[in-house]
Amino acid sequence: MKHLVALSFIFIHFYLHFSFIFFSTRYTLRAFGGFPPLFFQNWVVHSIKVKLLMLKQRTIKQSVHAIGIGVHSGEKVRMTLRPAEANTGITFVRSDLNTVHNQVPALADYVADTTLSTSIADGSIQVATVEHVMSALWGLGIDNLLIELSSEEVPIMDGSAAPFINMINSVGIVEQPAQKQFLRITREVKVTQGDAFALLKPYAGFKAGYTFVADHQVYDRYPKHVSIDFSSTSYVDDLSGARSFGLIDELPHAHAINKCLGSSLENAVGIDSSGVLNEGGLRYRDEFVKHKVLDAIGDLFLLGRPILGEFVGHMSGHALNNKLARAVLRCDDAWDTVGYSIAGPGRSRPILHPEASSAV
Ligand SMILES: [Zn+2]
Repeated sequence: MKHLVALSFIFIHFYLHFSFIFFSTRYTLRAFGGFPPLFFQNWVVHSIKVKLLMLKQRTIKQSVHAIGIGVHSGEKVRMTLRPAEANTGITFVRSDLNTVHNQVPALADYVADTTLSTSIADGSIQVATVEHVMSALWGLGIDNLLIELSSEEVPIMDGSAAPFINMINSVGIVEQPAQKQFLRITREVKVTQGDAFALLKPYAGFKAGYTFVADHQVYDRYPKHVSIDFSSTSYVDDLSGARSFGLIDELPHAHAINKCLGSSLENAVGIDSSGVLNEGGLRYRDEFVKHKVLDAIGDLFLLGRPILGEFVGHMSGHALNNKLARAVLRCDDAWDTVGYSIAGPGRSRPILHPEASSAV
């Protein structure tokens, strides 16, 4: 009997050890957003908690910059990504402002506007259209970064997250001597607006589903639903290239409210009554619905840490995504974390569960 117990122990030890090596290698190779290999039930996760400590926070190796235009402002902007200290999170910096305070933390509570894009603000310091670069950062598992802008809006690049992925990969990613932190959903949280809804529910990994509802003959030709489990699908290869899109007929209305002033077929998929106007067509057959997932990932990364859970969106957009993020943060019993509070330069960040610091 004693031998049997000893053998079982050895087997379990090796199983957990090699499972970890297998999954962590797989994650490293495929750069899936940097979340840990939680394909196991919770009790197993607890058993391998010590090994999960090996997942470290990440930033970039050196600064890199790009020049582009804001899709809504139409203004030229220079964006510089700079490495940031561990436990400082993602911070936007308005380098064009000659004020002592020129930073806005990339956190859901700072979202100030969700009309056609997600904008954050801290007092009079504003940063517009943060969702695509935030999505790319999630995709590469970046935890700490300074994003310097020479004007108010993040450059739209080609309308997807792929150019940000390429920028970061051109300088490389470095691990930091601090443990990566995750926000784990422990019960379902759902927000609604009319027929639209967005929810997060427990899941051992990260999964995102979206249903796009639009009564239009061109949209009707393409898939309107997608469900992606990022344990088997690569964000970089299969999602990051999905571009923003819109009906050409809706542009005058957007211009009337000072939006989409920089929009063109170079940074969006344009659609008229006959079809897609871009030369070369779509990058993915389900590019429209995939872009909605890309947006949701960027909006939800404003929770300050990557999520362990499942997102489901139905006709939802930036407003509901932010409503969901705020609802989660308000419900203490809906999530826990393997990290703790993040202290940014000169400001306190939201304190997460105090017991979390002892949990890891
Ligand atoms: Zn978008």
